[in-house]
Amino acid sequence: MDLGAHVSTAGGVDKAVARAVDMGAEAMQIFVSSPRAWAFKAPPDQVATSFKDAAKKAKLGPTVFHAVYLVAIGAPDEALLLKSVESLINYVKTADVLGAEGVIFHPASHRGAGYDAVEAQMVGAVHTVLKSAPGKAWLALENSAGMGDHIGSKFEQLGRLVKAINHPRIRVCIDTQHAWAANYDVATREGLDATLEELDKHVGLKLLTAIHLNDSKNDRGSAVDRHENIGQGKIGAAGIKTIVSHPSLAKIPMYLEVPGFEDQGPDKKNVDIIKQLRKEAGVSR
Ligand SMILES: [Zn+2]
Ligand SMILES: [Zn+2]
Repeated sequence: MDLGAHVSTAGGVDKAVARAVDMGAEAMQIFVSSPRAWAFKAPPDQVATSFKDAAKKAKLGPTVFHAVYLVAIGAPDEALLLKSVESLINYVKTADVLGAEGVIFHPASHRGAGYDAVEAQMVGAVHTVLKSAPGKAWLALENSAGMGDHIGSKFEQLGRLVKAINHPRIRVCIDTQHAWAANYDVATREGLDATLEELDKHVGLKLLTAIHLNDSKNDRGSAVDRHENIGQGKIGAAGIKTIVSHPSLAKIPMYLEVPGFEDQGPDKKNVDIIKQLRKEAGVSR
């Protein structure tokens, strides 16, 4: 498995590769615009070319994008829905331009309307995005921690949505912290086996394309989305070791989205800790 990390693109997307290499990451996740704004500017051709060259030279595994946080295709709000769709179209198109595999996004909140009331709207939105960005890049739904009215904390609901979308370019990303918060025991071998069994039953393991590998500040079942550095949280070093060495996950790239030991996001120290755990488990890249 490739051990990746979310990497900053400050100064241009082509700057991300060197940052990934510096921290020892084997793959990367990036934003291609500010995650807290709608504004989007496609990277210039020259930047795209230097990005692709650098990623290839560094022998990085799959690059994935994370959609901007504002995206909410399940919100009963026409203007927000249109902006969300437009943003995802830009991201999926840019993924193909930069040679990234796909775009991970949050199903976000139904804002009190209930899942059933917004399912058809979400299905329509995903189809519009994939039709408008008809390349190779996929779109992956990420499981949520289950805060408030957030959709997709339970694999059963995520599976319902995936089945309703029923598109060859739909995928799923599982965030270990969100799964933990949604009361899935990912920290023990027995618990992780059961978790993956449930994921397979409702979603299908073959759709699992990426893992967000994060420890958790809060207890299992807390429904709180708060990531922690590897080994410092409630999942703990032993739990993370169980995840990185699980045979069913051996070919799934994992991306850190941890706060960092200096609060600057994923860093070399977190990467090194996982590499050590992976080594102890007798697993290699
Ligand atoms: Zn995540
Ligand atoms: Zn999160």
